Amino acid sequence: MLSQAYSALEKLGRSVVKNSKRLVAPGSEPESSSDTCSFGEKKVLTKEEIDSAWKRVEESSVKTLPNDLILDELELDTARFLVSAIVRRHIEDNHSFLLPPNAISPAGTWSDLSELQDNELVYIQSQTYRLPSRTRIYLFLRNALWFTVPALRFYLEKSDTIRAILARDEGNSFGLYEIDGDSEMFGYAIYCSGSYFNHDCDPNVRKERRGRSMAFYAKRDVPPGEELCINYIDLNDVVKVRREALSKYWYFDCSCRRCARELDAEV
Ligand SMILES: [Zn+2]
Repeated sequence: MLSQAYSALEKLGRSVVKNSKRLVAPGSEPESSSDTCSFGEKKVLTKEEIDSAWKRVEESSVKTLPNDLILDELELDTARFLVSAIVRRHIEDNHSFLLPPNAISPAGTWSDLSELQDNELVYIQSQTYRLPSRTRIYLFLRNALWFTVPALRFYLEKSDTIRAILARDEGNSFGLYEIDGDSEMFGYAIYCSGSYFNHDCDPNVRKERRGRSMAFYAKRDVPPGEELCINYIDLNDVVKVRREALSKYWYFDCSCRRCARELDAEV
């Protein structure tokens, strides 16, 4: 089913990706936004406005794509990621009894994912232009899969499943590198258990990618009661850069002992 869904995406993708100049780097703002969901100059959206934007796209026809529905490469990658998550949920919902334990996903089940922090509101409020991007991806997926993989319609008729995944992707996913933090990121994944590690700028746990899995190792002896923490950002950065990155992408102000020590030293 997954290969069938991927092939439907590629087919629709080839027909609508017409302008490679629309390629958007993570964190950069696109030059224009889709008419499918536009908010003009308004900078901070409310939860109700975000809900109604999704409602509007849910109500559009599955038979015709909006003329301006062109996904850039990043959006197409996101669409593929979403398809893998939807197919995984479908298997869990309908066929899990056929599978041996842990065959669904060593990364976690749908209910594990649902329990992670929902970052939709804070993410869209900080990067408003991502909302039209996300609704475009939803429309694209729905149109690509509605007739080609009807078993997935249940997850696409409403936007709930797509929103739930995207809301947890941000702030919970792990970048996948050839060498951790020292090479170009070639993908990302959500490992539900791993998402429970908090950040520390002097972490006592290191993460190591093993193929498609992520392993976690203690870096030193950890006394009873000490929290196990990993690092979300490059530890070689200075305190100001680290704290800005954590605030921007993980929505918290780091108050770890290393940050406190280095902030004191700056005064
Ligand atoms: Zn810190």
